[in-house]
Amino acid sequence: PRRAPLDVEQLSEGILAGNRTALARGITCVESEAPRHQEIARELLRRCLPHSGDSIRIGITGIPGAGKSQFLECIGKLLCEADKRIAVLAVDPSSSVTGGSILGDKTRMEKLCRDERAFIRPSPAGKTLGGVAAKTRESIILCEAAGYKVIFVETVGVGQSEIAVRSMVDFFLLLQLAGAGDELQGIKKGVIEMADAIVVNKSDGDNVGRTKVARGEYARVLHHLHPFTEGWEPKAVCCSGLEGTGVWDVWEMVQAFCEKLKVENRFESIRAKQNAKWFRTLLEQRVLDSFYRRQAVDETFAELERSVSEGRIPVIEAVEKVLG
Ligand code: GDP
Repeated sequence: PRRAPLDVEQLSEGILAGNRTALARGITCVESEAPRHQEIARELLRRCLPHSGDSIRIGITGIPGAGKSQFLECIGKLLCEADKRIAVLAVDPSSSVTGGSILGDKTRMEKLCRDERAFIRPSPAGKTLGGVAAKTRESIILCEAAGYKVIFVETVGVGQSEIAVRSMVDFFLLLQLAGAGDELQGIKKGVIEMADAIVVNKSDGDNVGRTKVARGEYARVLHHLHPFTEGWEPKAVCCSGLEGTGVWDVWEMVQAFCEKLKVENRFESIRAKQNAKWFRTLLEQRVLDSFYRRQAVDETFAELERSVSEGRIPVIEAVEKVLG
């Protein structure tokens, strides 16, 4: 059937009423590069912003195969049963680089996809990670305005995307496996340092003993690191996304974390800082983009760049010439 033309009024009313189709179409506008869609997206964001914020934003990362989608399926189901509407958004750096996708979205979280109380959105295809992450931030606002109380932002623990996700969530969770060393798992120390919790997953069957050992090791590692979130000592726990053991405890830990920050009046101030930082990052990107667009038609700039690459003039001199 032909789709009705996009109407900001209808879309925003639909989103605020919690309509999933309206939300999905709103996010499509947010993700679109078309000027008409961007215009709608900006208006939607303006209308949704006052209704956003009332949620817990949880980042989740881990290498492919760590069990992220099974874990989300499990915790998502538990939260839905506890009457919390949940959204899962993905930031997939691979899709922006290769056009393919590590998170391979279609067949993931099948059961959760069918639950009316859940909203699952694969990663937007974007040119740059920054672009993809920007869309996810805006999608969070729309999801919150649509009444989703727990927002998961999923990413693959292999690259830069964790930093982007860390800067848009309250709680950052790293899913690990027992037995494989960190190098084997492709997890960088920097990612561990950003975690509020390490969850050693697949703690079931023969694997229980190994995951307990790994949990102990991670607890020791975390104990020696400076906490990413001031005043919260990162925890290491075990769970099985397959059998469900330990999964609700993860949720309770996240709640305890949020309550602690709220009591200390820091929950909102951390988000405020994230917004301010985001403002500057976006501004810097825009300023740079427009700067380079102007230089692209400037022959002196091209000539300076050639001179620098060929070693004919010092880089610092070229920079000073450009800046006049
Ligand atoms: P993702 O790539 O991180 O999303 O990982 P998946 O959720 O797709 O899981 C990868 C594989 O591990 C699948 O074959 C799952 O069935 C399996 N798996 C996921 N969670 C568990 C778990 O808790 N226990 C066990 N034994 N297997 C699991």
